[in-house]
Amino acid sequence: MTDCLFCGIVDGKVKANLVYQDDAIVAFKDIAPKAPVHMLIIPRKHLISVSDIAEPDRELIGQIFQVAARLAREQGIADSGYRVVVNSGADAGQSVFHLHYHLLGGRQMSWPPG
Ligand code: AMP
Repeated sequence: MTDCLFCGIVDGKVKANLVYQDDAIVAFKDIAPKAPVHMLIIPRKHLISVSDIAEPDRELIGQIFQVAARLAREQGIADSGYRVVVNSGADAGQSVFHLHYHLLGGRQMSWPPG
């Protein structure tokens, strides 16, 4: 999608600190980290939000969680704990409308989220 920031990262037109990529998924460090470890995992395919996920995306979504677990292990937060968060829609605070999974860890977190 032409005016999508994260499509720009997928296409290499927007610089990002990449930590993982394969033929379906890209992951990179969040530009404004909210925890010692804060990465974003996105599908190369432009999906807007959770509401855009459909049957053909079933495998892709599973792969995204596998990447999250792999990055958590690599970052040394698999044992201490971490969150995988998706803000979907305006009330949830979604600001970039290309589906993305926040991987957050490295500190104690509170519940419920604000
Ligand atoms: P959300 O508010 O859930 O839509 O999350 C969007 C996230 O994208 C925020 O945590 C931003 O800090 C992050 N972000 C925005 N622009 C960039 C960028 N160019 N590179 C990396 N992360 C970004």
